[in-house]
Amino acid sequence: MNAKRAVGVQSLYRQIVRRTAWPLLVVTSSLILVVGFIGGREVLYFNLSYAWIVAWLFLLEFGAPYRPSWRKSDGQLGADLGHTVLNKGLVQLLIVQLIALGIVGANSDSPVATLPMPMQVIIGLVVSEIGLYGAHRLAHEWPLLWRCHAVHHSVKKLWLVNTGRFHFIDSLASVAASVPFLLLSGISMDAIVWVSAITAYIGILTHCNVDMECGWLNYIFNTPNLHRWHHSNERDIGNSNYGENLMLWDMLFGTYLYKKHCDITDIGIAEIMPARFIDQLAVPFRWRKVQSGAKLDVLN
Ligand SMILES: [Zn+2]
Ligand SMILES: [Zn+2]
Repeated sequence: MNAKRAVGVQSLYRQIVRRTAWPLLVVTSSLILVVGFIGGREVLYFNLSYAWIVAWLFLLEFGAPYRPSWRKSDGQLGADLGHTVLNKGLVQLLIVQLIALGIVGANSDSPVATLPMPMQVIIGLVVSEIGLYGAHRLAHEWPLLWRCHAVHHSVKKLWLVNTGRFHFIDSLASVAASVPFLLLSGISMDAIVWVSAITAYIGILTHCNVDMECGWLNYIFNTPNLHRWHHSNERDIGNSNYGENLMLWDMLFGTYLYKKHCDITDIGIAEIMPARFIDQLAVPFRWRKVQSGAKLDVLN
């Protein structure tokens, strides 16, 4: 193959990834979950569908990165994984408690639970997003909560591993704000599983370092295009696109930001963030001390 043809093939491959990766990964992961529901093993198949999306994003971050410079280590792998494992454990514990207390149940006598599954999932996504949007916006606008949320925003690059990098108080606040809306919506437990799965798929896609252009999907869903603006190191720009799955509430409340064909600014925060996981857990409680230059390893 001559050099010109090789460049042409490379550019065609990048175009295909750019245009199709997001919808293809959401659809194929959802199909894996459908198989799980048919066989009555939805939890196992949800894990398989998540592993599927992670494996593809891992490969694409090498083959079609959005920013090649973001592939370099930022020294935060351990902290990113530490927050992810802690959050997953705490959220699962919370859900088990909610089920044990009967707060999360079958919802089978609700008229909404008898609607077709796609309608229930749309209702669940729209309704839970009220809590998610509200909690996320508050985390940016209320200085006390920002101390926790700043852990998520402190990274200088986005990639699939920092999807779960949230201070545990931030994660619990999001769950506490969204679960009541989800339960009050009256959708079935199967629909709640679908809403949780779609939230997980969209969450990892918004943080991946893959060159994707989501086009019209940017007007409905939270995408990498939109979420990179949300991570801008300029607070005026970053205080936008709060939606976790849908952009509906951002559009209604005037916080939607989509700049077509325009590269993002650098990402990160203006404040000081400790580099070590354990210091990041403590940072909301010793914020002033850290900002006034306590002796710590810091990110910036
Ligand atoms: Zn945020
Ligand atoms: Zn994020």
